[in-house]
Amino acid sequence: VVVGAGFGGMSVAQTLRKAPVDVLVLDRNNYNGFWPLLYQVATGIVETQEIAYPVRSLLRKQKNVDFRLANVRAVDFDAKRVMTDSEAIEYDYLVLAGGSATNYFGNDGLAAHTFGLKDVEEADRLRNHILSAVEAAARTDDWNERRSLLTFVIVGGGPTGVELAGQLSMLLHRTMPREFPNLDLGVARVILVNASAGVLESFPANLQAYARRRLDRLGVELRLDQSVTEVEHGVVRLGDGSTLEATTVVWAAGVRACDLAGTIGVSVGRAGRVEVTPTLTLPDRDDVYAIGDMAYLEGFKGGAYPMVAQVAMQQGRVAAKNIVAHLQGRRAKTFSYFDKGQMAVIGRRAAVMDAFGLRLRGVTAWLGWMGLHILYLHGFRNRLIVMLDWLLAYASRTRSAGIITRPEAQTHVERLQTSRQDRAA
Ligand SMILES: Cc1cc2nc3c(=O)[nH]c(=O)nc-3n(C[C@H](O)[C@H](O)[C@H](O)COP(=O)(O)OP(=O)(O)OC[C@H]3O[C@@H](n4cnc5c(N)ncnc54)[C@H](O)[C@@H]3O)c2cc1C
Repeated sequence: VVVGAGFGGMSVAQTLRKAPVDVLVLDRNNYNGFWPLLYQVATGIVETQEIAYPVRSLLRKQKNVDFRLANVRAVDFDAKRVMTDSEAIEYDYLVLAGGSATNYFGNDGLAAHTFGLKDVEEADRLRNHILSAVEAAARTDDWNERRSLLTFVIVGGGPTGVELAGQLSMLLHRTMPREFPNLDLGVARVILVNASAGVLESFPANLQAYARRRLDRLGVELRLDQSVTEVEHGVVRLGDGSTLEATTVVWAAGVRACDLAGTIGVSVGRAGRVEVTPTLTLPDRDDVYAIGDMAYLEGFKGGAYPMVAQVAMQQGRVAAKNIVAHLQGRRAKTFSYFDKGQMAVIGRRAAVMDAFGLRLRGVTAWLGWMGLHILYLHGFRNRLIVMLDWLLAYASRTRSAGIITRPEAQTHVERLQTSRQDRAA
């Protein structure tokens, strides 16, 4: 039984393709999500279904696998049973690959008053909110109100925060002015707040500096060495006591293991990740594996393996091979990571890439970024449509997903404005 049909879980199922086993994949969603393009859903470049692919379609050619739409809430390790919302499912081997969730570090206010960007639902909600805020700005004559509606704060200077900030700034300053001729979008601000002194800090210093210059050129304001202590009623309070009035606040500053990791009664490490042995099993159970974002294993640059897709996929392959080895009475392999590197895109024709021994920036890195992301997307149709969307966004500066599909987003924006006014009064 494999819990989670993400990067890690699918890698397990597909590696077991020819093994003499029956595989059952469980996921609370019926799709496999390609999270690296979530920020493009949030900024209207691509549509939700282009970065999500039905699990059953992905597995349809594999004879020894079945899928069940199910939310797993507990595991009885002694009875070898997984408990879902509706049934108990027995297993011989279990792979936990439930991924991660947004980490608000126990601050309920941040969770309630900011937008996360962890799945298609959240990306879609954020896109609707951004579009609704700009529409509300076009309706009001009140300058203060307009400024707060057009101020977008993104917290977190990692790849997600940087990519979102760059694209959002382009949406506000290059795409929307043609669609809102009577709204002065020159007052729109995208502010990227980061607790440490730089952005993209896992990249080499020269690429970090390039990213900062590009963000600056795109008009993104950087607030570095600043933590966000409170967000409420459209007001963001920073560590130095200053405040920003913003109707949109995105939290991209923390990741922790999925909720399941905390509910199954196993030992967890930093960020609530399940501690595993180098062969990826739980310390006291050789029939239970944990992989990907959900698993905690040290061995990468003096710390734990990072929460990235390559780790999840490579761990999935090792877990699958170790299950077969266990069945055949062979020794299990320990996990060793082949680091393919990292990349991030910062707007038009600009990206940074620290991969395969190459340190690239600018157009070359941007082309490399596009090529690799298209390669890893599932399905010919999705690849084709995403390429067309990119071409459209690049050539005409329009976006394919500019429709408000959630009327409640407008009500939410109006409520925020009212509470901001009440507070000011
Ligand atoms: C916005 C964003 C951008 C990213 N960009 C990059 C990038 O550029 N490069 C990179 O390498 N990595 C990137 N990542 C990280 C990468 O997506 C993750 O490291 C990777 O998805 C981890 O794979 P996984 O299998 O552990 O989890 P996931 O791929 O998240 O899969 C977990 C699955 O488990 C399911 N699940 C969770 N709980 C339950 C439950 N209780 N019951 C049933 N099913 C459950 C979920 O629905 C999900 O399908 C990004 C992540 C985000 C959010």
